[in-house]
Amino acid sequence: MSKQPQTLAQRLARAELLELEVYQSARRIGGRGDIWINANESPFNNSELANINRYPECQPPALISAYSLYSGVSVDSIITGRGADEAIELLIRTFCNPGKDSIACFGPTYGMYAISAKTFNVAVKALNLTPKYKLPSDIVSQTQGAKIVFICNPNNPTGTVIDKADIEEVIKQLPDTIVVVDEAYIEFCPEYSVAPLIEKYDNLVVLRTLSKAFALAGARCGFLMANPQICDMVMRVIAPYPVPLPVSQMATAALSEDGISLMREQVSSLKACGDRLSDALQNIGAKVQPANGNFVLAEFDSSKVSEQLQTAGIVARAYKDPRLANCIRFSFSDQADTDALINVLTQ
Ligand SMILES: *Cc1c(COP(=O)(O)O)cnc(C)c1O
Repeated sequence: MSKQPQTLAQRLARAELLELEVYQSARRIGGRGDIWINANESPFNNSELANINRYPECQPPALISAYSLYSGVSVDSIITGRGADEAIELLIRTFCNPGKDSIACFGPTYGMYAISAKTFNVAVKALNLTPKYKLPSDIVSQTQGAKIVFICNPNNPTGTVIDKADIEEVIKQLPDTIVVVDEAYIEFCPEYSVAPLIEKYDNLVVLRTLSKAFALAGARCGFLMANPQICDMVMRVIAPYPVPLPVSQMATAALSEDGISLMREQVSSLKACGDRLSDALQNIGAKVQPANGNFVLAEFDSSKVSEQLQTAGIVARAYKDPRLANCIRFSFSDQADTDALINVLTQ
């Protein structure tokens, strides 16, 4: 007897997930009535926060629909969890067999793709971006055998971007690979988002977060966006209650109309401060990458600058990666911090 035709997500997922009986939390089973004694919760609410004595929804509907409205992606294509970092880990756990499969990423880039994979005994093809920080033209042969390909856009820590058309080309060239586009900084260059392509390609996953432009790093809230078949597979692996109630309330408020306007104002003020910083860096002879996120990567001739920063109590990020020798990444900050930093740099 021939098997039912499978979706791409089903073909690529770890086989045991197809058979897995998904954990039925009391909350998922649900019910009707006035007396709720099905989840071993406390009946007492000792807090100001309504319902904090109850388990939260696995995927809080208000939060999902707020993100759908904001992103233009439909509700059945969005999963929320503890930051984009959790989404990276969920994707690896959903699609990669430990000791057998691999992921690919293009460095220098965000470190968690490789670390998450290694913690799960999944191999890492640590490939290189081109000298101009673009994707290599022979991406198909270089990523051969990888289950998941991670593309960070804008890229952390370089701040550089890859054209949408180039990313779409990769999605088309790798129809049997999950292509994950990490858009943690997309609010700083929204025109580069590939989120509208989710409906078109069954192998595309887009990651988002509220940690950067939305100023909620401490809340831990991020989003995975993909076609419903991929979402269905990831939902088999996710924890029963990945989003604490206070977090979903804060996140939903941040995604209200007012919250989004505030974010946009802050993004433009951060970009203005970033422009001032980039100019100052260039004036002291640094080689500066075009900054498409909320940070700029600067390359200096000497370690003098690091010393100056240290003395002034300014904590920026340096790297061990030999490709980033002499580089420092500066996050954009407010007017006062920017003034202070420029002062130190121009001394
Ligand atoms: C900061 C960052 C993340 C992590 O986001 P969280 O939502 O805070 O987990 C993911 N990807 C990139 C590229 C980042 O810079």
